[in-house]
Amino acid sequence: MNILVLNCGSSSVKYQLIEIESKQALARGVVDRIGMSGAVLKNTRSDGDEIVITGDILEHTTAIEYILAVLLSKNHGVLKSKDEIRAVGHRVVHGDETFTGSVLITPAVVKSLRDNIEIAPLHNPHNIRGIVACQTHLPTIPQVGVFDTAFHQQMPPRAYLYGIPYSFYKEHKIRRYGFHGTSHKFVAQRAAELLRRNFEDLKVITCHLGNGCSMAAVSHGVSIDTTMGFTPLEGLLMGTRSGDMDPSVILYIMSKEGLNYAEANTLLNKHSGLAGISGVSSDMREIQNEMEKGNKRAGQAFDVFTYRVRKYIGAYAAAMGGLDAVVFTGGIGENSAAVRKASCDGLEFLGITIEESKNTSKDKEKEIQTADSSVNVLVVPTNEELMIAIETKMVCDQQN
Ligand code: ADP
Repeated sequence: MNILVLNCGSSSVKYQLIEIESKQALARGVVDRIGMSGAVLKNTRSDGDEIVITGDILEHTTAIEYILAVLLSKNHGVLKSKDEIRAVGHRVVHGDETFTGSVLITPAVVKSLRDNIEIAPLHNPHNIRGIVACQTHLPTIPQVGVFDTAFHQQMPPRAYLYGIPYSFYKEHKIRRYGFHGTSHKFVAQRAAELLRRNFEDLKVITCHLGNGCSMAAVSHGVSIDTTMGFTPLEGLLMGTRSGDMDPSVILYIMSKEGLNYAEANTLLNKHSGLAGISGVSSDMREIQNEMEKGNKRAGQAFDVFTYRVRKYIGAYAAAMGGLDAVVFTGGIGENSAAVRKASCDGLEFLGITIEESKNTSKDKEKEIQTADSSVNVLVVPTNEELMIAIETKMVCDQQN
C-alpha cells in the first residue's frame, strides 16, 4: 500500500511516496520556485535514479500534475497507475482547536481550514491549495490532513492560556497551540519502542532542534506542554527566531527604531536567534566552527541556545513530576554531540548523565546515557513523512 505524502508551502511542494508495509520511501522529491520563472522538480527514486525537470509551474495544481507524471513515468517512475496510491496524506500546519487528531478531508474540513487562515496566514492557504489540487488530479483517492498542532491539543488550559484578558482567547483564539507535533509524537513513540516500554507509561521530554526548535513534555502518551505558542516564535532560541522574550522589548524597539508591524515581524522571525546574537550565521555548524576559532559572540549564541534547552528540561521534568527519557531530534539534535552535551550539563541531579563515547558515536539512533543514569537519553532521527503516512493509513482503515 502506497501513501503519497505532501507538504505544500508557498512556493514549494515536498513529497514522498511511502510504501507503508516496508516504511520506505519509493520516491521523494520537491517542486521549487512555484509561480516564479524556472520552476524545478527534482525526483529521487529509492534506487538512486534522479531526474530534474524545469518548467512553467505557476500554481500548486500544476506542481501536483508534474509530480504524478514523474511518479508514473516509464523511465523514472515507480507506479504503473494512479490506483496504486491508496491515499494522500497532507501536512497541515494549523488545525486550531478543531482538530485533535488526523482527519479524512471532507468539504467541511476544508471549510474549517479556510476559517483558520486568519491565525495561520503563512501556511494554511498553501496546504489548502495542495488539497484542492489533489481533488482535481486524484478525485477518487482519499485525502487525510495531519496537523502540526494536533498532538498538543490535549494540553491543559494552565499550559495554553496566556496571561492576557480572557476575551482575546474567546474572540480571537489567542492561546498557545504548539507545532512540530508530528515529529514530537514520532520520536516519543520510537523512544518507547527502543526502550521496550509502553508509550503510555513514560514521561518523556522531546527536543526537536532544527532550524525551528521546540520541546514537548509528553506524559503518558500526551503532550502536556510545549515551547512554541500561538506561533512558532515562542520558546527556544532558533536559527533566526528569538524564542522567549519580554513582550515589552518589541514594543520598545518598535518605538525606538520606528518599526512597523511587518518590519518588527521580520526582525523577530528572520534576523534574531543564533543569527542575531552571533552575527555569524543561523546554521549551528557554522556557529560551532566559529566558536572553535574563538569567536565570542558565536560562543554566546551557543550558550543561550543550550541553556534554554537545559532550562526547559528542568521545567518539563517539574511539569510532569518525573522523567524517564529525554529525546533529541532534528538536524541539530541528531547531529551535534556538543549541543546535546551542553544541554544536559549539570542535570545529574535529575538523573541525567551522558556517556561521552556514546554521545559522539556514529550511530544515527542511539542511547547516550551512562549506565548509572536513571533517565534514558536518546537520539532518534525524526521522520515526519513516515508519521504522516502512518496516520493517513490509520484514518483510512477507520473508514472501512
Ligand atoms: P529544518 O528545521 O529546516 O528541517 P533541520 O532539521 O535540517 O532543519 O536542521 C538544520 C540545522 O541542523 C542547522 O542549524 C544545521 O546547522 C544543523 N546541523 C546539521 N548537521 C549538523 C552537524 N553535524 N552539527 C551541528 N549542527 C548540524
